Amino acid sequence: METHIKKVLNNIEECSPGQEEFYQAVHEVLYSLVPLLEEDEKYDIHNILERITVPERTIIFRVNWIDDNGKIQTNLGYRVQFNSAIGPYKGGLRFHPSVNLGIIKFLGFEQIFKNALTGLQIGGAKGGSNFDPKGKSDNEIMRFCQALMSELYKHIGERNDVPAGDIGVGAREIGYLFGQYKKLTGEFEGVLTGKAINWGGSHARKEATGYGSVYFADNILNKYDKSLEGKICTVSGSGNVAIYTIEKLYDMGALPVTCSDSKGTIYHEKGIDLNSLKAIKEINHQSLEVYAQVNPDCIYTPLSHYPEGRHMAWDIPCDIAFPSATENELNLEDAKRLVANGCMLVNEGANMPTTPEAMAYLKENNVFFGPGKAANAGGVTTSQLEMSQNASMAKWTFEEVDDKLRQIMRNIFNTAYETSKEFGCEGDLIAGANIAGFRKVADSMIDQGSV
Ligand code: GLU
Repeated sequence: METHIKKVLNNIEECSPGQEEFYQAVHEVLYSLVPLLEEDEKYDIHNILERITVPERTIIFRVNWIDDNGKIQTNLGYRVQFNSAIGPYKGGLRFHPSVNLGIIKFLGFEQIFKNALTGLQIGGAKGGSNFDPKGKSDNEIMRFCQALMSELYKHIGERNDVPAGDIGVGAREIGYLFGQYKKLTGEFEGVLTGKAINWGGSHARKEATGYGSVYFADNILNKYDKSLEGKICTVSGSGNVAIYTIEKLYDMGALPVTCSDSKGTIYHEKGIDLNSLKAIKEINHQSLEVYAQVNPDCIYTPLSHYPEGRHMAWDIPCDIAFPSATENELNLEDAKRLVANGCMLVNEGANMPTTPEAMAYLKENNVFFGPGKAANAGGVTTSQLEMSQNASMAKWTFEEVDDKLRQIMRNIFNTAYETSKEFGCEGDLIAGANIAGFRKVADSMIDQGSV
């Protein structure tokens, strides 16, 4: 089996050079499937590994937009429609200068299994652009979104592919993208999720990834007769995921003490001031330096004071760490520090934030681990709840959506846990989540023949 997996991985590296994050994601998933692949040869007979690691369709296009000086700027737009075996393509759009094909493929690949784990009928996709929203005016953001949608609209639709937000894409961007889609197609339809409440959005979508991540952590702790009550938590990031992780942690009686952005990290021993964090990040789009100015009792450490790849948040003694910013933000050194400080759980709010070496070290040291494709599935779950409401023209209350989210996060945990037990690695939620997500998609591919 290992030889087969190696062959598939070599082939991917040959056919798609330079896509490091994509190899990393595929590597992690494929090796964790060994017990399933050995138990049932149908996956081999149907060449599922070869098929599932290649996107059904990859769209790359030029996006020309006009900046405030009247100059034409050019970026690249991507949409990777990875797998539609269990439902229409679903996954976010990321606007960040680091975006390239390898990043979008890694995210799209992860999304297949994450979406399958939710138990809902949604396939896997991801898209975005290397456009950097930082420092752009509102009008520039609008013109960029309109330009991107002028090409993307040809490839998406409410029953075909439903994008949403990710890093750099929130309610404002979804609004501009939706407006342009409607103008070009003449259709008011649920083609995007993360919409504003007034025109088809769902309550609790904004909060969902962060809340879901905390619900997932709570399920892990409860399994081992522990709870979030009184736990010191470190959180990285200060976007949607981090902010609503912090909010829910307070609700559950925990104490979140850190957050970070691309410039630096805040350590606030008495607890992050949620109101000032929201005002700075959600309303004024400012840097955390401003948080440090208005909260003089916190410690602010610029990222430049830290060696490349290290993160000050992981040096702070904590019970639980919530990496909620971006991929590979928690490395082996960080993992060592967390273990030395007595951290009991790492719960991934972001996609693939923990490096493979860090993951292995945490496992060796018996730290509980909530893998991103399970722990951060609350966002896409609530996107699907938004799609359901759009399709039936219903409007559920915040409490109704939040209840469903909480229930689905519990189901995801149970599925991952029970699957790990079934395959002889009880409590290994990485293997459990990968095997459960893969099995559902692979079985559906087999049912649907050689398409
Ligand atoms: N970008 C989010 C994720 O990584 C949400 C995707 C969606 O709502 O479609 O799952």
